[in-house]
Amino acid sequence: MQTVFSLMRPHLRRFVVAAAFGALTILASVFLALASSWLIAMAALRPSISELNLAIVGVRGLGVGRAAFRYLERLTGHDATFRLLADLRVRFYQRIEPLSGVQLGSQHTGDLLARVVADVETLQNVYLRAVGPFAVALLVGIVTSVLISSFDFGAGVAAAGLMLIGGVVVPLWAYRQAQLIGQSVVVERAGLTVQAVELVQGMADTLAYGLQGAHLADLNDRIGRVRTAESRLAGLDGWVNAVSALLSGGALLAVLWLTLDTVSGVWLAALALAAQAAFEAFQPLTQAAQQWGMTEVAAARLFDTQPVAPVHGQGIPTGFDLQLSDVTFGYDPALPVVPGLTLDIPHGMHIALVSPSGGGKSTVLGLLTGLLTPQQGVIRLGGEDLRTLDADAVRAIMGVLPQRMHLFNTTLGENIILARPDASESEIIEAARRAHIHDAIVSLSDGYETLLGEDGAKFSGGQRQRVALARVFLRNAPIWILDEPTAALDHTTAAQVMHEVKQAAHGQTLIVLLHDEAQAEGITFDRVVQLYPH
Ligand code: ADP
Ligand code: MG
Repeated sequence: MQTVFSLMRPHLRRFVVAAAFGALTILASVFLALASSWLIAMAALRPSISELNLAIVGVRGLGVGRAAFRYLERLTGHDATFRLLADLRVRFYQRIEPLSGVQLGSQHTGDLLARVVADVETLQNVYLRAVGPFAVALLVGIVTSVLISSFDFGAGVAAAGLMLIGGVVVPLWAYRQAQLIGQSVVVERAGLTVQAVELVQGMADTLAYGLQGAHLADLNDRIGRVRTAESRLAGLDGWVNAVSALLSGGALLAVLWLTLDTVSGVWLAALALAAQAAFEAFQPLTQAAQQWGMTEVAAARLFDTQPVAPVHGQGIPTGFDLQLSDVTFGYDPALPVVPGLTLDIPHGMHIALVSPSGGGKSTVLGLLTGLLTPQQGVIRLGGEDLRTLDADAVRAIMGVLPQRMHLFNTTLGENIILARPDASESEIIEAARRAHIHDAIVSLSDGYETLLGEDGAKFSGGQRQRVALARVFLRNAPIWILDEPTAALDHTTAAQVMHEVKQAAHGQTLIVLLHDEAQAEGITFDRVVQLYPH
């Protein structure tokens, strides 16, 4: 829950404004009920029209005002929510992007992707359905209770009591229930996405081995479980609505009964109807409470991805020299993939690490970027143990080309600029030129504005790799780490691109992971290290 609030904090002002508009919307309804029933009761006594003028204007104004406030509430609430979502996506991306080259241990990529999509979407409701309604109900409850108690203290207390039940007891009960049911809804829905993604991605293999029947049956099972969980949630919804309706009717009767002797006739119906109108603010609370339960589950899962990035310290790197001393790492500790690697990479060195496939290169990349932690030995950056440094600060000084880079379903230009959001257009073009992808981009009718499609579907493997490489050029970080940068390129392009890389990284550290020295033919490194000499 704290995580949800910590996400909202930067946008707090916007959320407060949205909640204020929300409260004004419902208070307009409350006062509209009050003014219009007072008007009707008063008119029956046939006073002069001048006595009614204020109420007539009030009814008109409140009727229009209610719509205007609702509009402003939606506008400001959504604006704040989308800003929050943008933050969340960037933050999540920054956390997982460098991981894309390293396999994520127990976490499937399908699961990760599904988590981002499904859970970010659930979090989208944090303000709109969860936090906002509670703030609004609190304000409305206080104003209405004070209003009624200014006529009759007892009635005010009774209304406040019923609102407390409608605003606290019922939602709390709904929250408890939703937590139990919501857990299974979120888990089953996310599971469904994972299963669907895997089914589509593995379609060729599924058909080839004739497994489609079994896989579809599994999928149907899952859909059934999602449906069961959702219908339990809907059933809860029904109960909660019934209780809420009883409460608002109860408020009307209670206020009427208690004010019968104490309040003058024209105000009687007005107060009772105002009390009932205030319950409009409490209806969404139970839905909000249900959302809360589900939001918590989603938030927990989203932040659960943190443990895969095990750099915990707070320190800021003070230098760029890398030192690996006796670094040992194995995904299964009994079978080290990197067995006692000792290596000095002073700032400015250009070094190639070579091993056959499966020799541990991408694992070394994970270790150098602090995403994997050695089981033995230590990695130092600028003389400091990597584990004592802040993960984001470490990544900020690195430009990494992961082996399995990812392109986003947005424009080519956006895909490059994410490496350095403040870059100018000419810098982007320069980076693309150096990565030998500029010509291919401008030959497209939309150029840098071309939309890529899911995972860069419109581009070939080699082109995608060069778009990703353009990011590293643009980043121009003190430490470049490229995992098989030329794997998908033809011989000539590979040589040209590597030449550009060497030049651009001049004076900076360049670590190139290669499965074969021939991948960088004609390029001279200060050192070439065989990682896994069998
Ligand atoms: P390279 O990049 O040189 O091809 P990797 O570092 O990707 O080598 O892999 C080294 C070894 O570690 C391989 O045997 C690979 O199967 C294994 N490996 C890589 N990632 C994981 C993981 N997440 N879980 C278990 N084993 C892994
Ligand atoms: Mg690799």
